[in-house]
Amino acid sequence: MTQFQTSTTVHDIDAENVLASMLAHLREHDLHALQKDNAWHIDYANTQITLQARENSLQATVQSVSPSSLYEGRMLVFYHIQEFSQCEAQAIQWDGDKIELQYPPSFRVVTVAAVSNIGPHLRRVRFRADNLSRFESNDNIHCKLLLPQAGVENPEWPTLAANGVPQFPAGDKRLDMRTYTIRRINAAEGWFDIDFVLHADAGPGSGWAGQAKPGQQIGMSGTGGRTAPARRWMLLAGDETALPAIARIGESLPADTMGRVIIEVQSASDQITLDMPKGMTVQWLHRGNAVAGPTTLLADAVQSCNIPADDSRFVWVGAEFATAQSVRAWLRHTVGLGNKEQLVVAYWRHGMNETQMKKMPAKLASSKTEGQEAGS
Ligand SMILES: Cc1cc2nc3c(=O)[nH]c(=O)nc-3n(C[C@H](O)[C@H](O)[C@H](O)COP(=O)(O)OP(=O)(O)OC[C@H]3O[C@@H](n4cnc5c(N)ncnc54)[C@H](O)[C@@H]3O)c2cc1C
Repeated sequence: MTQFQTSTTVHDIDAENVLASMLAHLREHDLHALQKDNAWHIDYANTQITLQARENSLQATVQSVSPSSLYEGRMLVFYHIQEFSQCEAQAIQWDGDKIELQYPPSFRVVTVAAVSNIGPHLRRVRFRADNLSRFESNDNIHCKLLLPQAGVENPEWPTLAANGVPQFPAGDKRLDMRTYTIRRINAAEGWFDIDFVLHADAGPGSGWAGQAKPGQQIGMSGTGGRTAPARRWMLLAGDETALPAIARIGESLPADTMGRVIIEVQSASDQITLDMPKGMTVQWLHRGNAVAGPTTLLADAVQSCNIPADDSRFVWVGAEFATAQSVRAWLRHTVGLGNKEQLVVAYWRHGMNETQMKKMPAKLASSKTEGQEAGS
């Protein structure tokens, strides 16, 4: 039932081409438009979007059931028109229902409830927050954490400009954004856990986790990124940054799933108990004193796996960029897995922080999802 509506007409653009590019791009993300009465209609999470090109103008109407879903539909249109027409943000002005939100709907301020070490290099932080139901999905298990600078006691949070674009605090109040996996969540009870790797050369994520204390607040936004769909035979592989995702994916698989789990950690003391289907064998790899990243331990172990020629198989890998690249190339070109049979994500990149990694050219590193689906 539509309650809210907003629309925009963007002038002086190559409207037919912008529309065609937008529709092709949205199809890649499984959003399929239907053509009716000279317009294109998209149904997206309780929101209807209508797009119509007229000579050099593109008209978009968004209808939805709540201010927050209207906002998200409007931003989807905004970002895509801007990306494909290269127009200025001011060229996209909205009429209709006003959206008065304090924060972007995907954003929450979350408070540390408890901190515990579940291994020498893995720290679990339990956060409390209201209104977590949008984050409680086994299909979208990743989030962005917005971390205040060290020593800032009263952080400022993103606000919304009049055109809806999030505005981030700057200077000493700036927030660093890092990607993490929601290890466990209970929206009804208002909590979720993140397992942080405490790594060498700590950046804002690892550094913040190292000093985390109950009562501190950070920001969270999401969810996003794809995960592994359940298949009869599965291979889950990764280093310690992927351990939270592997643990969560494994717990959600049907009990009769067959396959393998391969995880690289520093030493036996970094191993944790995993709740995997009985038919999935778990192998731990120890890199010992070798530096995390450049080692080929994980890539070699994955590439020695016998991937069955089963029509119901899936390989999921989360690892350092170079490992992700070599594994993906092997899965594609040697094993012959198609896009629907594997997902290989670069979780971090040796010698680069996450912000630098995301700025790499699209050919090297696509950042369409939470991480980087490594190019082969
Ligand atoms: C979808 C997704 C989910 C993720 N989930 C988790 C999770 O649940 N838990 C988790 O801990 N991480 C997770 N990561 C990885 C995490 O985002 C990166 O490790 C990130 O770089 C950590 O940020 P930072 O601020 O600590 O370090 P950054 O500021 O990004 O980097 C600083 C330096 O540390 C190096 N570095 C980064 N990570 C590591 C590492 N693991 N070991 C050694 N050196 C490193 C970088 O190369 C750089 O030189 C996930 C990543 C993605 C894409």
